Amino acid sequence: MPEETKQELLELVKAAQTLIKDTERRGQKEAPLEKQTKPFSKDLLPVAEKLTLEEVRVQLGDCTRCKLHLHRTHLVFGVGNPKAELIFVGEGPGRDEDLQGEPFVGAAGKLLDDIIESIGLSRDEVYICNVVKCRPPNNRNPEPDEIETCQPFLFAQIACVAPKLICTLGKFAAQTLLKVETPISVLRGRFSQFKGIPVMPTYHPAYLLRNPSAKKEVWQDMKQVHAELCRLTGKNIPRKGR
Ligand code: SF4
Repeated sequence: MPEETKQELLELVKAAQTLIKDTERRGQKEAPLEKQTKPFSKDLLPVAEKLTLEEVRVQLGDCTRCKLHLHRTHLVFGVGNPKAELIFVGEGPGRDEDLQGEPFVGAAGKLLDDIIESIGLSRDEVYICNVVKCRPPNNRNPEPDEIETCQPFLFAQIACVAPKLICTLGKFAAQTLLKVETPISVLRGRFSQFKGIPVMPTYHPAYLLRNPSAKKEVWQDMKQVHAELCRLTGKNIPRKGR
């Protein structure tokens, strides 16, 4: 992570620590409901050394900050290695994820597992989360106000894990991190950056289930992810041949 980014995050974490200390001083595990209903301040981005994913999860609480909470079964935070070198960011929970409380289960989850395994890693070795943590009704697209409200928690998760590389899945994850409105078909296949961390946008596994011919482009994208991950980590990660 570049020094400038690290300094920026170090300053921001002080505000987060103060809030957590205040909450603990009051003997509460989670922020009170009136605080939960307010947007999570963008100034509360933590850094990996100072704030844990568990603490970010506590801050999220039984979140009612946007209207997506109204229809959810489970809030789906994220899974995987809290110190992963690679993060996958999807759009939001679907039906299976909402029922099970875990991102990328069901058919799209199985395909993501295959994608992860193609670059020589397992689901336990990476971190997986979504832009919005609650299922949009009837699997509709997340709306701008919902993304805006939930995205600070995504940024906090990324800062906690401090990955070497991010792979976004689908349009909304790419556009949220890169702050662009460019179509995913144009964004995919080339690296951009989020706060100095390389980002490879690619298609969402659910899109691949509907459009299997696009898989070849995802495999090409994942070849680039694998090569860059090996370069950044200095590891020789054996790939599964494709
Ligand atoms: Fe809260 Fe995010 Fe769920 Fe909205 S989508 S209720 S901001 S956790």
